[in-house]
Amino acid sequence: MPRELSPSELESFRSLGWAGVTPMLSPTVRRALDRVLETQNGGTLSLDECFTLAHSTGDDLLGLLVAADLLRSELAGNLVTYVVNRNINFTNVCFVGCKFCAFSRGPRESDSYFLSLEEVARKSVEAWQLGATEVCIQGGLPHGLPPFYYRDILRAVKNAVPGMHIHAFSPMEIVYGVELTGMPLADYLSMLRDNGLGTLPGTAAEILDDEVRMVLSRNKLSTAQWIEVIRTAHRCGIRTTSTMMYGHMETPAHWVRQMLLIREMQQDTGGFTEFVPLGFVHQNTLLFQQGLARSGPTLAEHLKVHALARILLAGSINNIQVSWVKLNRKLSQLCLHAGANDYGGTLMEENISREAGATAGQYTSPEDFQSLILEIGRIPAERNTSYSRINIKVPLEQFTAEVGLEPEFA
Ligand code: SF4
Repeated sequence: MPRELSPSELESFRSLGWAGVTPMLSPTVRRALDRVLETQNGGTLSLDECFTLAHSTGDDLLGLLVAADLLRSELAGNLVTYVVNRNINFTNVCFVGCKFCAFSRGPRESDSYFLSLEEVARKSVEAWQLGATEVCIQGGLPHGLPPFYYRDILRAVKNAVPGMHIHAFSPMEIVYGVELTGMPLADYLSMLRDNGLGTLPGTAAEILDDEVRMVLSRNKLSTAQWIEVIRTAHRCGIRTTSTMMYGHMETPAHWVRQMLLIREMQQDTGGFTEFVPLGFVHQNTLLFQQGLARSGPTLAEHLKVHALARILLAGSINNIQVSWVKLNRKLSQLCLHAGANDYGGTLMEENISREAGATAGQYTSPEDFQSLILEIGRIPAERNTSYSRINIKVPLEQFTAEVGLEPEFA
């Protein structure tokens, strides 16, 4: 029987990385990992090899983590990047009814809210004054939204703080905006771009398999619609992130198919900035309460998904992000040893995961991020949304003193 990784074994690696770990690999896994390490290209794996890696346990899983960490150091270096940003969830009123969501409310519920354009602008100004370079704006989908409301949000923010990067509107919101305005998708996206939309979150992906989507949220956009919105955004010059929600009712085969789909799209458009695995936060969701989903990812699954993403997307998407609000701090550090290289955003407020029961808090200050990154022997660096500007945040002498190691640069 393959042995399982124990939490204490994983914990002992948290600050050390995987140095000195020499797992006893099965021949198939060894051949697959050797090939990816040699070519630095996940596209050299066969579909069967991808499935084998996704199902790995014990020493094979350990080997996957070690290989992903090595590949990360070769492809993304020893920097851990983050962006200083603010989340603005402008309303929690939503008619879509996703079963994994604990954030949405009906319009007459006592704790429903809808922020005015002035309030969204005020929050953006406040964020800018506190050093944010990005606002991430998403919300529920309320009935009767004024047809050009998403455009108006962009105008309000840009008028108040022209230098702010606006990362906004999930593909579901884009589909809703198209429906409200009656505009063709490409025209609608171009209009948003011309009014200040910088990038689009590749959220609302969950698992890109319509059978699973029908259970998670039967009213949500289909897999084909998600792909169409993202491909059209890329064609219009709007880059996006890519995401996957794991740890609910999906199987490892879904992870593989989603990563390969994203890889294929990236080969065509080059429009993805990063891949963000999003662990399912189950506590306050119907999906879990109705017995349709497991209780979130196991420790091994968290690590495996990040490592698998690094391996399968090697040569295609270079940034693998940990979503610290859905993990705890230790676990996010561990995932940074399993292939990830980006800490995401500082998120001056974060409502969605908190409502679902995540405990990682609403905000991590840039200084906290720097300490968390230094603790694992890596180099903190603030980035902009598109990773085109990177600013290393600690002097080398301080790094050497705090970590006791010479930093290696890629
Ligand atoms: S995930 Fe988004 S679309 Fe789905 S119910 Fe929640 S707020 Fe609405």
